[in-house]
Amino acid sequence: MHKSGLPHDGHSAGEIDPSDEVTCQQLVELVTDYVEGALQPRTMNHVEEHLVVCDFCVTYVEQMRATIATLQGLEKHGSPEPPASALAALQARRAAGA
Ligand SMILES: [Zn+2]
Repeated sequence: MHKSGLPHDGHSAGEIDPSDEVTCQQLVELVTDYVEGALQPRTMNHVEEHLVVCDFCVTYVEQMRATIATLQGLEKHGSPEPPASALAALQARRAAGA
């Protein structure tokens, strides 16, 4: 077995193995782990190599990163919106103060 990174012709068609290069489809499958930093360093390198040449996937990663950040922000705050009663109380207090 050669493990020293010899180039070969990629005749193992049909297998999804991001050991040579990733395709857009593979990147879409890996993007969640990529954004969370959960990829193997070697796979991470191949994802980043793909991002250098593929604007589509850069945009995709940005969108996914923003989505995850939003979700994490919501988790921290508990509920995404204050209940209507709290809003009404806040407005009443503001009206009374000013
Ligand atoms: Zn791509």
